[in-house]
Amino acid sequence: MSTNPKARAWLDIDAAALLSNYARLEKAVGPGVRMLPMVKADAYGLGVAEVVALLEGSAGPWGFGVAAVDEGLRLRSAGVVRPIVVFSPAPPQSIGDAVEAGLTLSVCDLEAVRAIAAHGRRSGKSADVHLEVDTGIGRSGVDWRERATWLPRFRAELGDGIRWTGLYTHLHSAESDPPSVHAQDARFSEWVEAAGGVRAGLLCHVLNSAGVLRAPELARDLVRPGIFVFGGRCDDELPAPRPVASLRARVVYVRDAAAGTTVGYGATHRARAAERWATLSIGYGDGLPRALGNRGHALIHGARLPIVGRISMDVTVVNITGMDGVGVGDVATLIGRDGSEEITVDEVAGQSGTISYEILTGFTPRLPRVWERVDGG
Ligand SMILES: *Cc1c(COP(=O)(O)O)cnc(C)c1O
Repeated sequence: MSTNPKARAWLDIDAAALLSNYARLEKAVGPGVRMLPMVKADAYGLGVAEVVALLEGSAGPWGFGVAAVDEGLRLRSAGVVRPIVVFSPAPPQSIGDAVEAGLTLSVCDLEAVRAIAAHGRRSGKSADVHLEVDTGIGRSGVDWRERATWLPRFRAELGDGIRWTGLYTHLHSAESDPPSVHAQDARFSEWVEAAGGVRAGLLCHVLNSAGVLRAPELARDLVRPGIFVFGGRCDDELPAPRPVASLRARVVYVRDAAAGTTVGYGATHRARAAERWATLSIGYGDGLPRALGNRGHALIHGARLPIVGRISMDVTVVNITGMDGVGVGDVATLIGRDGSEEITVDEVAGQSGTISYEILTGFTPRLPRVWERVDGG
């Protein structure tokens, strides 16, 4: 194994920027509101062990949010003792492990509630559950219109082995549609009132990153930010986060291409006149979107240079015609800053027809994550 993580292609991760984004959201909701940073999908691709250690060391969140029971189990194995909330409905096969590890499960289905309570009784532990209300997202949660019939049936299942500790809903369009945030919150409010809110020992929560930036006054007891902490912008109208991840690769080959020379699979770029090309040691096998072929850019020596031809699994070619002094071993930036030029993760997402979330979670294990220490080392 290579001892130099920066030998080929890698992600530089700026811990100070991550903490500053987190602090910005924490400040927006104010003291008294608990922070539950979402660290699902390997903390949006950045590396959950490092992210959790960093947040535990400096920020002291109330707990962590994950999507899968296994993600929660791994955090427990790593020594996390804070609350861990699993936000997707847990498959029946995982409920026993989740209860045993003291994970808090999201529920919206009475079958699951019964199974959780049974596991809780059997293990002698009380499992905490947060009830999800669907106020418009439709993928999970109890339909908000079913409150009057559903709440009594749910309450009847509570007792030994299960503790109801939270009530939440998830926003579907906080980045793009501000009125929808208030409409969803109004539907949710009816449940909070009927359930008794904090008086009944429930943590009530609604807001993701865009929700916090859009409507911090709706924070209630706890917020669940993800993307903004990790450097993804929620919307052009909303504040930009500090960039957290920079994607870099080495120049591994430089060549002069005579007019008519083609490059890459499908020979989709042909030099019109004499051109100079640099081959970078990064491709879609690292998570660089293939959609950037003949469209995206890389920065080398502070200059913005077009990607030419299709992106291969392992290499990508940029047109450096007219640039002197680019050589093998130089660093190219596919996301991040070089001199006064910058490529944001959102620019790359836009050019690839997707969102920053998919770019970040799409970085593959082949890319070393290189953490820059908070003190700038
Ligand atoms: C992923 C997720 C979040 C975080 O959303 P961001 O848009 O990344 O801030 C919050 N709540 C739930 C239930 C989620 O699944």
